[in-house]
Amino acid sequence: MNLDDIQPICIAGQWRLGSGALYATTYPATGEVVTQLHAAGLDDVEQAIQGAQHAFVHSGWAQRKPHERATVLYRVAQLIRERSEELAQLQRLDNGKPIKETRNLVASAAGTFQFFAAACETLEEAITPSRGDFMTMSVYEPMGVVAAITPWNSPIASEAQKMAPALAAGNAVVVKPAEITPLAALALARICEEAGVPRGLISVLPGKGSLIGDALTRHPLVKRVSFTGGTSTGKHIARIAADKMMPVSMELGGKSPTIVLEDADLDHAIAGVLYGIFSSSGESCIAGSRLFVARALYGTFMDRLVEGARGIRVGDPADEATQMGPLISAAHRESVERYVDIGLSEGGRLLCGGQRPQGATFDKGHFYSPTILEGLPNTARLCQEEVFGPVLVALPFDDEADLIDQANDSVYALAAGIWTRDFQKAWKLGRAIQAGTVWINTYKQFSISTPFGGWRDSGLGREKGRLGILQYMEQKSLYWGLNEQPIAWAGAKQ
Ligand code: NDP
Repeated sequence: MNLDDIQPICIAGQWRLGSGALYATTYPATGEVVTQLHAAGLDDVEQAIQGAQHAFVHSGWAQRKPHERATVLYRVAQLIRERSEELAQLQRLDNGKPIKETRNLVASAAGTFQFFAAACETLEEAITPSRGDFMTMSVYEPMGVVAAITPWNSPIASEAQKMAPALAAGNAVVVKPAEITPLAALALARICEEAGVPRGLISVLPGKGSLIGDALTRHPLVKRVSFTGGTSTGKHIARIAADKMMPVSMELGGKSPTIVLEDADLDHAIAGVLYGIFSSSGESCIAGSRLFVARALYGTFMDRLVEGARGIRVGDPADEATQMGPLISAAHRESVERYVDIGLSEGGRLLCGGQRPQGATFDKGHFYSPTILEGLPNTARLCQEEVFGPVLVALPFDDEADLIDQANDSVYALAAGIWTRDFQKAWKLGRAIQAGTVWINTYKQFSISTPFGGWRDSGLGREKGRLGILQYMEQKSLYWGLNEQPIAWAGAKQ
């Protein structure tokens, strides 16, 4: 990808300039222009969907044997690995994450294609117990054209998590990446084509969600939307989907509690809490942004935690030593700052951060220091609303029953963390906390083989896991008549 050129976008296998307005993407660490492209227009959406439907019906992809589709997807994984450094650097420019993190995201994308290739070629259909003179089967069919709408915070991994199972299932897929981070999705589409995914089966349409994402969601040929993003956008999409009776999967926001019990291993807990909230600059749906610490431990723990937060290396994402890069945009940093002000106005006390770091490295980028507040009740806005930035609120707790109530007192229920050496307490808490994922003595670790998703306002449906491929398939029952005589009712003699 030559970033000096105006980037073509992928419309049903044709690489050409979008019909929407010209815009530039910028590097969040410096504000400099990375590249330019024309956004997709509504006519591009129509062309992409019609082309996808045509490819779905005529390319033979859906009819290929599962192991044949899998062979292509294994090749996608291999090509991602061969170009991993190039892709990691591209993603760094796209959203300003530190290079070490973007390398992990690229590795995760390759692993996702490999995993769903395997899921595809090992997916079993069932002969179900018959209750009559017939044999019954349960089989799966691809859906047709599916839309994947993704946010800016972990592009290549988010897109792979939707594209790989959708393609493995035999569908065509139209991707709508966040307007400000389109490059990883475009690179991934090129790789898929090169690996042998039939042309037309994939489109990538950068552009505004309210226009392009909305048109995709409403289109009658789109049979499923897989969405990752904010809860209010997710609800909007779900309402449109309800009118079409279209299934959706929603990976939405979070306000995840992390709980440190009195007997926790402090070194592990401190490292885990810091990583859980401040990695990815807190721009992570699963950020552990509400911290509950046993009161007896609170003072000691917070002193060490604050010291750790002050030591986090914030800086140039290209530097191998950097732990925290900038926030995605100036507007997003202002939103984070507003939340810190709200926390202070509600009676919160700042333990560290709460400001932009100073120095030449930080002048032009959207940096914000790791920030910890205390003194707020769980009902405060800062404890209830998603900041999506490097802001942690710490709360001491006395009573474990009350702790469970507080931890669960949120519209969100995406993830939680528990730090304790007592496996019985961990078990009890782990089952009592309402969340899609609970980490015990670890945090923010992922495995493509383990389902992921949220409860309540954190989402609907699950991605990942061997059965994640079924999100992109319709289930069908087959009845095979084995009766030697005609059905008695129709053939009954008068
Ligand atoms: P948004 O919901 O604003 O955007 C997500 C995607 O949806 C973008 O591509 C956006 O386009 C698009 N979009 C916006 N409006 C519409 C619409 N009306 N119809 C269809 N698509 C639309 O979220 P953010 O970009 O702000 O991402 C951050 C959010 O994502 C956070 O709340 C975070 O918690 C959540 N998230 C959840 C994850 C999970 O797995 N649970 C993982 C990562 C993030 P555009 O922005 O280009 O206009």
